[in-house]
Amino acid sequence: MSPSSQSFRVAIVGGGLCGLTCAIPLIKAGVDVQVYEGAHKFAEIGAGVCLGQNAINILTKLGIYNDVYNNTLKPEPEDDMGPSSAPHQPVPPRGLDNMNGWFKYVAGEGDNEELCDYAAKDNVAQGVHRAVFLETLIAHVDPARTHFHKRCTHLTEGPSGTTIHFADGTSAEADVVLGADGIKSAVRRFVAGTAGAPVDPHLKHSGSVAYRALVPAAVAAAAGCAVDYGARPLCVVGKDKHFIIFTVRGGTMINIAAFVTDPARATPATWVAPPAAGGEDVAPAVVLKAYEEWGPEMTRLLSCVTAAKKWDINVVHPPLAPSAWTRGAVAILGDAAHGMQPHLGAGAGQGLEDAYLLGRLLAHAQTSRANVSDVLKVYAAVRQPRAHRVWEGSRRAGDIYEFRAGETIDVAELRRLSGYVWDHAVDADVEAAEAMLVREGVFAA
Ligand SMILES: Cc1cc2nc3c(=O)[nH]c(=O)nc-3n(C[C@H](O)[C@H](O)[C@H](O)COP(=O)(O)OP(=O)(O)OC[C@H]3O[C@@H](n4cnc5c(N)ncnc54)[C@H](O)[C@@H]3O)c2cc1C
Repeated sequence: MSPSSQSFRVAIVGGGLCGLTCAIPLIKAGVDVQVYEGAHKFAEIGAGVCLGQNAINILTKLGIYNDVYNNTLKPEPEDDMGPSSAPHQPVPPRGLDNMNGWFKYVAGEGDNEELCDYAAKDNVAQGVHRAVFLETLIAHVDPARTHFHKRCTHLTEGPSGTTIHFADGTSAEADVVLGADGIKSAVRRFVAGTAGAPVDPHLKHSGSVAYRALVPAAVAAAAGCAVDYGARPLCVVGKDKHFIIFTVRGGTMINIAAFVTDPARATPATWVAPPAAGGEDVAPAVVLKAYEEWGPEMTRLLSCVTAAKKWDINVVHPPLAPSAWTRGAVAILGDAAHGMQPHLGAGAGQGLEDAYLLGRLLAHAQTSRANVSDVLKVYAAVRQPRAHRVWEGSRRAGDIYEFRAGETIDVAELRRLSGYVWDHAVDADVEAAEAMLVREGVFAA
């Protein structure tokens, strides 16, 4: 991207994976960007995140992918998931792990009978430690542009721009505000016009919780686990519960996301507002208990967990129409716009697609303060339908894994759902948006 002559000021609310990814191309293009993060530092929990081919392509285009890869070779960062690695072995190397062939689906009960095998020929995705990924993004953002302890409470519009109000009583003004403030987004309430409602009507608990833990591979082996968890990612399935298991840090850490769904609250019609808290520590015994009827291998693996967190799986529902993704020169991205169930490993990747398109459009030579609200509308028109289809696919995948969609795992359907996520030319989104802007007379032909 060439240096931009953009005269507008951009504020990004939220410095998570999507907010920082959005900041990077804008900074490179010379746009005046400030990032306001609610926490006292940028932080990600010490768990894995799967990056599909679509996300990897974006990181490559943004010039970040090699840095993520190289960062895997550096010493271990502080781990927010507790001491699970510390007492057992020396500091493990980090690493990007190929999701070789994608998942094998095995039964949770008994001896983990193989039910089916996705068996992708290509390397369709990679697992990465979240903290490593975030750390790489941070290195690309000038610290002078980042502001901590800035928890946005609400926005107001004025003649000279949009004012972001923070919980510490301060405020900041910008010409363009991008809300990347996650599933409980304050910016979403502004753009969707729900700021006055006592609870956010678009924030729902999906009826599922996830227990997340990391187990050193050496510890699992010493405990008698027979499965080579580094060989293939596993989806261990049962009625209304499943595990996702893949390795991070070069095969040395086993990442476990263990889901349990309340069958009475498994459909959108039954979803309600989530409890206020989320992401609390739970005793390893709680996780073991949740899977007590599962077979000996899974029990052995869970016995190795020394620290775990429980996450409510919250989603954005009912979905926001494209018109509710933006209001004037304010737009939302990432989980703020389309928080989804994590069952296709696609939520962050969808946010990266938002960030990439926003970066390209806001840095475009024809984007100006005068037309930026039209540009943001086109961003939403291009991104919302695809993000919503991935949202639906993610829900469907959870129903398949947990036998609410039928009595067998329909691998052909899973291939269609995942294929839609991965096989996506992000530059086609840019071209579609530019063509729309020309058609609508916002950009010159
Ligand atoms: C169990 C589980 C497993 C998952 N696995 C995968 C996976 O394998 N692959 C994948 O692609 N996705 C996965 N996801 C989804 C993925 O984690 C999210 O889609 C992604 O992290 C969203 O990024 P974000 O930047 O939009 O939001 P967040 O990561 O939530 O970041 C939001 C940031 O904004 C800050 N913030 C919040 N409120 C405010 C405020 N009011 N003011 C200022 N700052 C604020 C927060 O502190 C945070 O830094 C998973 C999710 C879960 C729950």
